[in-house]
Amino acid sequence: MNQTLDATGLLATDRCDRCGAQAYVRVRLASGGELLFCGHHAKEHEDALRQVAADIHDETERLAPASASAPSDER
Ligand SMILES: [Zn+2]
Repeated sequence: MNQTLDATGLLATDRCDRCGAQAYVRVRLASGGELLFCGHHAKEHEDALRQVAADIHDETERLAPASASAPSDER
């Protein structure tokens, strides 16, 4: 939805506030704060975040490249 190109890009050094994993979602709160979440926690708290967020920058698509034909060499 928000495809504006600004300085919100997430870095490998950005960490999820909940578990410390690499963050893929940055939430700007309407109150002015900022939260970082990994893909897992961003999804888990998505509904609550939407209610308090002024902007949600989501890079979770980088986590799951569209690989419908992924090699299944693991059993
Ligand atoms: Zn997390």
